[in-house]
Amino acid sequence: MPNRTNLKALSQDDLVRFVAAHGLPRYRAGQLAHWIYGKFVAGIDEITEFSKELRAKLSEVSYISSLRLTKRLVSSDGTEKFLFALEDGETIESVLIPDKDRLTLCISSQVGCAMGCKFCLTGELGLIRNMEAHEIADQVICAARLVFPRKINNIVMMGMGEPLANIEAVAEALRRISGLIGITRRRITLSTCGLVPKMEELARAVPGVNLAVSLNASTDAKRDEIMPVNRRYPLKSLLDACKRFPLGPRRRITFEYVLLGGMNDSVEDARRLAELVRGVRCKINLIPFNPHSGSAMKRPSERSVLAFQRVLEEHHLNALVRESRGRDILAACGQLKADY
Ligand code: SAH
Ligand code: SF4
Repeated sequence: MPNRTNLKALSQDDLVRFVAAHGLPRYRAGQLAHWIYGKFVAGIDEITEFSKELRAKLSEVSYISSLRLTKRLVSSDGTEKFLFALEDGETIESVLIPDKDRLTLCISSQVGCAMGCKFCLTGELGLIRNMEAHEIADQVICAARLVFPRKINNIVMMGMGEPLANIEAVAEALRRISGLIGITRRRITLSTCGLVPKMEELARAVPGVNLAVSLNASTDAKRDEIMPVNRRYPLKSLLDACKRFPLGPRRRITFEYVLLGGMNDSVEDARRLAELVRGVRCKINLIPFNPHSGSAMKRPSERSVLAFQRVLEEHHLNALVRESRGRDILAACGQLKADY
């Protein structure tokens, strides 16, 4: 149907303007937001608080979009991967990671990614397009419907795409996820490859969200080679930006370090890494590389992983080895490529 307004694409202010423009009292905007973000309705017909007449009237001029689930895969470790189609037919992935005390959803911010990191399957796609704010937030709404009565209580923006390359839509989505869906910002983490100027913008636009930074190398030469973004924002500027990033009490920055066998996993790398992050309140997640068809990189040996971790611990750093979940369904870090 042509020219109907997608209510999910409207900000809260836009919703207020929309109801006013259609001669409805202002409180209807609040009700719409409550049903869309609090009750996760996928259509105007599901808003049972409204009379049949009001629903019919609204349906003539508007609708509520919803991501279309095209595939759902369950890993042997309980991780689930959702493949969603957007309105224009592009596809993205979200990954559900159940843990003892929390249910995490890993969400995407772009279809593909322009950053071209040498170890990442999403990077190979190149950028197909940015996701819109409502598409980003809709991953949480649609997953919440799918996993009901379980409740998603943790969000990581570590799926497809570089979130800070799409900061405006990402910031609006995070405001909706925290303010309207009700997931506290303390339990939302955004991961970036290090777009330095946008890190400050994030802190201003959505204060309180946790930051993760993908370091993945201990020298500029190595990082230039595997993460082209480093040529624009080398390690010193990146670490300086981390030091400036405002952190609440007891909050820390997470540094991700993908261990690539024979590439960045030596004890010298570990020592340089410890030196690099000195002065930043942080923890370090060591992620053994997840192989995929498109990459010449190798998984590190178990011995080198443990030796690397030990060096960091000797420097009094908090370093955990994070075996990615969902590798058997290609849901692990750097394995997301959707339907391409
Ligand atoms: N674009 C953002 C967020 C998405 S990538 C970023 O780069 O931070 C999420 C994490 O997966 C990053 O830390 C990235 O370094 C890591 N990653 C990418 N490919 C991987 C692979 N093949 N194996 C393990 N981790 C990978
Ligand atoms: Fe993009 Fe992150 Fe993959 Fe690099 S690691 S290509 S920034 S998604």
